[in-house]
Amino acid sequence: MGTIMTIQGEVEGKDLGIVDYHEHLYFDAPPWLLREDLDFRLNDVEKSAQELRSWMDAGGKTIIEMSAIDFGRNIHSTKQVADLVPDANVIVITGFNKPYFCDQSVWQANESDLIHQCIQDIVEGIDGTGIKAGIMKGGTGYNTFNDYDQKLMRIAAKVQVETDVPIITHTEAGTMGFEQVEFLNSHGVEPHRVCLSHLDRNPDFWEHQRIAQTGAYLGYDCPGKSKYGPDEWRIDLLKRLIAAGFGQQILLGNDLGRPSYWRSYGGGPGLDFILTRFVPRLLSQGIDQHIIDEILINNPRRFLTGA
Ligand SMILES: [Zn+2]
Repeated sequence: MGTIMTIQGEVEGKDLGIVDYHEHLYFDAPPWLLREDLDFRLNDVEKSAQELRSWMDAGGKTIIEMSAIDFGRNIHSTKQVADLVPDANVIVITGFNKPYFCDQSVWQANESDLIHQCIQDIVEGIDGTGIKAGIMKGGTGYNTFNDYDQKLMRIAAKVQVETDVPIITHTEAGTMGFEQVEFLNSHGVEPHRVCLSHLDRNPDFWEHQRIAQTGAYLGYDCPGKSKYGPDEWRIDLLKRLIAAGFGQQILLGNDLGRPSYWRSYGGGPGLDFILTRFVPRLLSQGIDQHIIDEILINNPRRFLTGA
């Protein structure tokens, strides 16, 4: 171990640098979703490269591109974006985001065929490109763990056990995270190979602590998106988790999967927000640089390489 697969090939853990654990650079959202919400149209290679460049210029190094199969992952265009910013490590994924995004092709398919497809993405490459996925995704709906949720999570578990790549899940508004870890664990996945996304959508310390006690990683990815609550909540939670001894299980990302979040489209906060504005605020509010280095560099390295 000690390495992680990226678009550019295998990278040593020590070369990952500062990691944004949950991001989107390019995807072709399903047409029905765009009819519902045009703000999912993130399909301009130049603008994506410009945004990724801003993250690199702020000191970032590695981005995890979390657009899953059901969310319109486009490996050819994502590769074009990565090629325009060749000093960035871009990790791509396989698996499914959540039942709401999946169409009948997922529900009608045999579970074993979907597992096989995901394993192919990891072992041979995605859509015939030879570019291999480094992460498996699964997810559940808002406060649900029904048959659809379980199908996606079972696929994630079986692919993880078979290939040993880590799992990053989607939680809907931060719900069902504890249940996800329990379910994955009951299917053979060790908690320290799992990171739950969007937990800061549900800023509930008791819940986060109970998840951390399993050994799983806690993903926070809403800094600067004040429609999901002020950063003050996130910073209070971070301080309490650090004080409780869980500082080594926190990952930070920004999940800016909408053009309205990107400065290259005239929006905000922009892909450099965490490094240029959130981290300075953490420092000014009393969080030590060495803990920030854990969260941005060492925790994702340990999680991604399985160390
Ligand atoms: Zn996302």
